[in-house]
Amino acid sequence: MGWSLSMVEEFWFRGESAHVHPDGNNASWTCPCGHAVLFVYQRGRIGSHPDSPSLCRACGTGYYLMPTYPHGAEPPAGDTQAPAERMEIMEAHR
Ligand SMILES: [Zn+2]
Repeated sequence: MGWSLSMVEEFWFRGESAHVHPDGNNASWTCPCGHAVLFVYQRGRIGSHPDSPSLCRACGTGYYLMPTYPHGAEPPAGDTQAPAERMEIMEAHR
């Protein structure tokens, strides 16, 4: 267990509230181009860090969540926590 996007109160994108469907470490969101983007909030996985962005399959834009996946240990099993109350969807610039 550990970090859970389900516990995040709000997601934001470009300064506005974003409609995100979280479930545990995963979340889906609709890119402005209209296609689904999946975030997997685990070390090295898509959308957890600008070095491993989740690429929209339609327009190719990369996205990741801020705060990025933390370096320290995860919260222990049975103590799921939001990485932050508010998380922001960021565009990855290459
Ligand atoms: Zn797109």
